Amino acid sequence: MTNLDLIIIGGGPAGLTAGLYAARADMKVVLLDSKDVGGEILNTELIEDYPGFESVTGAELAKKMADHATKFGLKIETYKPVKEIRSDGDRKIVTLEDGSELSAYAVIVTVGGEPTKLGVVGEKKYHGRGVSYCAVCDGAFFKGANLAVIGGGDSAFQEGLFLTRFAKKLYVVHRRNEFRAQAILQDRLLAMEKVEPITPAQVKEIGGNGDVKWIDVDRDGKTERVEVEGVFVFIGFKPVGRYLFKDHVEHDKDGYLITDQYMRTSIPGVYAAGDTRAQLAKQITTAVGDATTAVLHAERYIEELKDLERAFPSEPKDIVAQTVSKAELQVFAPGEIVLKEGDPAERFYMIIKGEAEATHRGPDGSQVVINRFGPGDYFGEIGLLNDAPRRATVRARTSLEVMALDRETFAKLMTSSRATEDEVRRVAAGRAQAASQP
Ligand code: NAP
Repeated sequence: MTNLDLIIIGGGPAGLTAGLYAARADMKVVLLDSKDVGGEILNTELIEDYPGFESVTGAELAKKMADHATKFGLKIETYKPVKEIRSDGDRKIVTLEDGSELSAYAVIVTVGGEPTKLGVVGEKKYHGRGVSYCAVCDGAFFKGANLAVIGGGDSAFQEGLFLTRFAKKLYVVHRRNEFRAQAILQDRLLAMEKVEPITPAQVKEIGGNGDVKWIDVDRDGKTERVEVEGVFVFIGFKPVGRYLFKDHVEHDKDGYLITDQYMRTSIPGVYAAGDTRAQLAKQITTAVGDATTAVLHAERYIEELKDLERAFPSEPKDIVAQTVSKAELQVFAPGEIVLKEGDPAERFYMIIKGEAEATHRGPDGSQVVINRFGPGDYFGEIGLLNDAPRRATVRARTSLEVMALDRETFAKLMTSSRATEDEVRRVAAGRAQAASQP
């Protein structure tokens, strides 16, 4: 099985951004996509709200993002649909539809979703024969035809604008009188002579004779038949990320993956970014930002995981992964106090970067250095093991980054492995003895 640091699933703007950062950080990483990279933006003709690109086609932006990431060494594997993600110790195992498996310390899920279906008679039957969910893909087949766009959001309006190139007449069928699309898109589309809104109206049926010929819509309690040859449905989006998981992953009632501020899902080492994540806005800008946070945190998670495994080699690997996912990163400036003699013991610390020193008050009141710590060293265990106040003060000697575990997480680490507990107690006893010597 191929062992990696990170697997990115999904090659839209979020995935490609995560890939760019991971490749630049020299991580062993692969990006998998079930189709070509680009994701949702491949279904978008023009993008006008991505800063720095006043107007760019979705295909062009996707290519630029992919080229940028591959230039920095990202390995992209297209047409590799993922079947399942599962945890195995400190690793995530990603099984592909072809049966092959990859393993990594962390996974970032950026798989977006799929269009919501209307669920009316004829929709399934005429899919591909007049019913479409992508104007950019199918619009050109409908030159000179009467078309209907269903929905009132940004997608309906943006795709509708694209369809006006081909349509003789374009109906915008929406269930309310108000549209939720951005004002600029509404102004542009509704100002066109060939565009006619049908509101408030619900599509009841799509019909034809081999190809779509009409839709029936209910308006004001009456059913109207509207003659169209193409029906473009843009009534929202169904996230698909959660279906990849073997074990339960937290999601909201609409199926979006729930993450914290670092894009961590409820499974240690698994992150989500972009449209498959529960959030306010589904924009390229937010997808790109989320992915940056996710990959930077994943990089740190992997580093901490490796540090903790080195320090406690007999600890079960799944417990190490859980411990790291609960750890809090703390940063101290040189000279800053991490913990203070006499204070209650609340946390256990492991140094990720930098150095610290422990001092305690000598008989004359001066601070005596009793220990120095560097990367991979831990401290703060004595007070927690003995449930006693701090016996020393620990200060940063340089800029210091530590992984802090609360009392409960530390206790779990101790109880999960007898060898770990014995080792930590041995270190603690040695330190306590050294500190008590004159
Ligand atoms: P959306 O914003 O959720 O809009 C869906 C539309 O479909 C709404 O107008 C909704 O009506 C209607 N609808 C929902 N269920 C329906 C049903 N069963 N029958 C009939 N109508 C139904 O979805 P979207 O337009 O696909 O956009 C998704 C996200 O991507 C949004 O956050 C959007 O801002 C973003 N996006 C941004 C851009 C951009 O240019 N920046 C472009 C595309 C998409 P109601 O209004 O009555 O709820």
